[in-house]
Formats: sequence, C-alpha cells, structure tokens
Amino acid sequence: MKIRSILLALALIAACSPKPDEPVTPDDPNEEQKDTTAVEPVPVVDSVALSLEEALMLDFVFDDDGKAHDGSKNSLWIDSKLGVNMMTYYNGSAERNVARFFNSLGGIVDEGFYKYSYYSNTSFKNALASGHSMEVLFMLGEDPRDVGEIKMFSSMEAGGTGFLITDQSRGREITFLPNTTNQGEKNWRWCRSGVVPEVGKYYHVVGVWDKEAGKARIYVNGELKNTVAAAGTLNFPNGAASNWFCVGGDPSGASCQSAWNGDVVIARVYSEALTDAQAAKLWEKAPKNFQAPSIKLSNVLFFSECEVKINSVYTIAADGLVTGDKIRLEGDETFDCVTEILSDRALVTIPESFKSGDYKIFAVRGAESAPIGSARLTVSDSPRELFAPKVVAHRGFHGSGRPENSIAALKAAQDGGFYGSEMDVWMTTDGELFVNHDGVISGKTIQNCTAADLAGVTLSNGEPLPTFRQYLEQFAKNTATRLVIEIKSHSSDQRNLDCTLEMLKEVDEAGLADYVDYISFDWGVCTAIAAQKPGSIVGYLTSTSNLEGMLEKGINCADFAYTYLFSNPSLFDRAHSMGMLVNIWTVDSPSEMMRAIGLGADFITTNKPDVLQNIVERLF
Ligand code: MG
Repeated sequence: MKIRSILLALALIAACSPKPDEPVTPDDPNEEQKDTTAVEPVPVVDSVALSLEEALMLDFVFDDDGKAHDGSKNSLWIDSKLGVNMMTYYNGSAERNVARFFNSLGGIVDEGFYKYSYYSNTSFKNALASGHSMEVLFMLGEDPRDVGEIKMFSSMEAGGTGFLITDQSRGREITFLPNTTNQGEKNWRWCRSGVVPEVGKYYHVVGVWDKEAGKARIYVNGELKNTVAAAGTLNFPNGAASNWFCVGGDPSGASCQSAWNGDVVIARVYSEALTDAQAAKLWEKAPKNFQAPSIKLSNVLFFSECEVKINSVYTIAADGLVTGDKIRLEGDETFDCVTEILSDRALVTIPESFKSGDYKIFAVRGAESAPIGSARLTVSDSPRELFAPKVVAHRGFHGSGRPENSIAALKAAQDGGFYGSEMDVWMTTDGELFVNHDGVISGKTIQNCTAADLAGVTLSNGEPLPTFRQYLEQFAKNTATRLVIEIKSHSSDQRNLDCTLEMLKEVDEAGLADYVDYISFDWGVCTAIAAQKPGSIVGYLTSTSNLEGMLEKGINCADFAYTYLFSNPSLFDRAHSMGMLVNIWTVDSPSEMMRAIGLGADFITTNKPDVLQNIVERLF
C-alpha cells in the first residue's frame, strides 16, 4: 500500500509539471531570450526501481577495512566476524568492494563471516513472515568435491530461509530454500534452479517467497528457473541464537556452518515477494562484466599471523604461480614486494619501509591481481623462529568408515606416521577402562555400567567398544606414533583418581610408559599423573590465562581450545617463556593451522591430521 501511494503521488507531480517539449509561457518578457531547452527535464520515474528501494530491508555492503555495513534505509548493525579466512577487496569488474571467503568449504567456523541478527527486530521478522525475497551475487572459489551443502547467504537452522548449493545427492544446484508449515506439515520448499555453479564464475540469484500465492520462485541471471509450491507460514530458524542472516555460510548458534569459499558481491533481503519485473530490474542493475581471472592459484598457504624482519623472506606457498608474478601487501601503505617465484612458492622480501599491521595479500601478474588472503604481520629484529608443530590426530585418524576412538582410527594414525593419536578413557563401576569420547554410548552411561553391561556394545564399523587394554595392544604394534591419553571427568574426584591410577598401571604393565603423553580437563588428574610420571608430557586442558603454578606441579603443557588461544595469542609466548609447551585443539582448516604454526604451537590436535601433515611437509 505504502509503495503504491508514493508512486501515485509521484505520477501526479509528473502530470502537473510541464513536459520538457512543451513551450513555457514566460511571465517576464526578458525571459523570452532564454533557451527553453534549459527548463529542467522531469526525471523519468522508474517505478520498479523505486519499489525495490522501498522493499530493500537489509543490504550487506562490504567496506575497505574488511567489515560490512547495512546499505538499506534501516542502517541495521552488522556484526563482522573478521578472521584470517576472509577479506574484502576492490573488484574492478564489479566496480565495488567484494567479500572473499577462504573457509574450507562446508566447514564450521567461528570467524570469517558476516552476521545480522534479527531475533529482537520484530518488524524485520514480520516482514520476512509476510513474504520476502533475497538477492545474491556470488562466485564459488573451489571445487566442492565430496563436501555436503554449502551456503553463501542464508538463515537456516531447522527452519528459516536462504540460498544454498545442494549436496551431491541433490545435484549441486543453486537453490532457494524457505521453510514453511502448511496444514500442520513443516517442510523445506526446495526451489531448485537446475543450475550447477562453475568454479570462478559469477551468478546473480533472486529467491522469492510469495506467501499470498503460496509459491517460491528462483531466478538465475535474470531468468525465472523454477516455481514451487510453498504455501503456509514461515518457520524461523530453531533457537534464538540462530535467528540471523549469515554471509559466508549458515547460522549454527554462534558459529557458522556449511562455510563458503569464494566471493560474495551482493547480499540483500527484501520485505516483499518481488515480481518478475522487479527481479528483472535487479538483474539489469547487477554488475555483469566479470572477467575470468587468469591468475588461478590453489593450495595457498601463508603465515597469517607472524613476525617478519625487514629484508628477510616471507614465504607464500601456492600452486599456479608463474615467473614474473609479484606479491602485493596492501595495508595503510601498499608494497609491491620483490618476489622470487619458485615452482611451488613465492619468496617475498619484506621491504625496508615496511610497518607492522594488517595486510591484504594479492598475487600480481601484469595489470591483473588476485586476492589470496590477509595477514597480521609484526616487524621484529629477531622474529620468532617458526618450527614444525607436532601433529596429533584427534580421537585417532577417524573418517572414511573409521569411527572416532576405534582401533581402526588408531591404526590409521600409526600408518599415517603422525606424532600422536589422541583418545579418551572412562572407567566402569567395576574398574574396567573403556575408550570412548562421549560418556554415553548406545544409551549406556559408561561410568555407571559394569564391564559386562558394555559387552555387546559396538561402534559403527562393527568393532566392539574397545577396552583400554585392547587399545594398548594395537598401540604396542607401532609406538612411533605416541598415544595421547585423555582421562575424562567422572562423577567424583575419587573416581577420576581411580581411573587415572588404573590407566597408569595398565600402561606400565604393557611397558609403554615411555611412549605416551597425558591430557585432562581435571586438575587433580593432571597433578596425580605428573606426580607419578615426572618428565612425561602432561597437558592441562584449560581456558584460563593464569598459567602460574602449573609447571611447579609438573604440568608442562598448556592445552587450549583454538578459539580461546586465537583470542589471546600472547599466551603462546607467555607459556613458552615459562618453559611450558602449548597444544592447540581442534584445528581443522588449513588457514587456522597456518595461524597456529605462525603463533608457535608445539602441538596441533586436529581431526584432519593428513591435511596438517601435508602442510608441515610443504613448509618445513
Ligand atoms: Mg579428547
């Protein structure tokens, strides 16, 4: 109604104004000399464009500093979850800043995305619920291979709306996916486009949920590709914490899942179900002159947070570099660095006038440049020496049919030649030790069961739930990969201690004490182990920056979650200066692995030990 009345008013104003080609009768005879063409022409009212402007209620506009702001009339606050996995850069073809994401496709990340939370914005929610549209212009940066769904702009969690690229079983199509309840039946309304995105190409997509008509539509590059039934009421994402629009992935509480790799140029939400004419107008206005980049780099690795020395070399490993390529570091000042290209890496000389700061990194070839990431580089006369971290397979090298903490996962870690294979230990009421992460398996709480109660329990690959003794038997076959033993937190301190003593006894009996490390979230467990096994590596899984007193108790490794450590990076140096080691868990994306190495992690615990091992082999 509001739009219609504005349009009507404008039409009336236009009708009452003199047309440019009508002669103007002058009041003043002197005016006669004036050229009548100088009369200001009435601007042509583009009612479609005007209606779009009116309906636009969220518009992610990417700024030079990597953040985003809302370009709509609402000026909503956008939370820019800045991280090493994202940057903004000026894209000449689009004539604007573009967000580039380097997340591992489909992964879960805690930074490297943009967030607009609408949970407490009632009018925004009402507008979504009464019918809405979304617009995105994106480029997929990497082949999705075997990962599941990937999302560049969405708000879904067991409900919601947004775009995705479907998983392989659904054909990898660009899809608009609102969730509605119709006649008591809650369902995703799969509005698939039939378009499978090619890596490196840009796609303009409009998704429309028309509540009144009970339909959803999807347009790709200006063409209506599909209309599906989507009657009913809109379901919002399940849980307040997921009521937000994500650019760069999909909300999952405070985290982002189904993470994106590639560009997002436009990400907008409209308060109405747009018409064909409006969708056509969006396509008309969208940038289209994207050139296929000639610089195609893959397997890019660099230290995103490290110390550098003037005139020393900063290495960027990548496939696809050619002789003559240069590396540009763009911060407050821009440096086109002296660059030596080897077959798989660029050796970048840090220039004389370089300053500490945050830099965007580009590969430059002739007139073209390609963004490859961002880094926080600190100038130092004696930069921290980088060393290869020790690779610890989290719960064994699981995946590909090998369940976590299975004998198969331990064997795979041994075969992979990793430094260590981590595992978790629980004790039953009758003093038997079992290996499992969760306290409950097949509905049975391990610490409340007897060994007999657990006799028939199997893992998903058919293996019986392993006892600690069975695990040690496999471990004894190849101790080149160390066993990293975690004692889980039981219902009482006494039970923790009983479990610890039994574990130490079994390790001793098997003659394996020289080949194991220990970790626990429980202080009492850690101090008990350190007292019994002085000189062993004992890691306390902590989230406190207070490391005082640990070493005196024999706890020689500070063991931090990566989210905490990346927020408190000075802890690396502090722990090291106190003579302690640092383990960081659970680091699964290559860029985060690089960040952890750059900060000086002694151990990196990961669900992707093969990926980390590969990185270590490439860099050291
Ligand atoms: Mg564990």
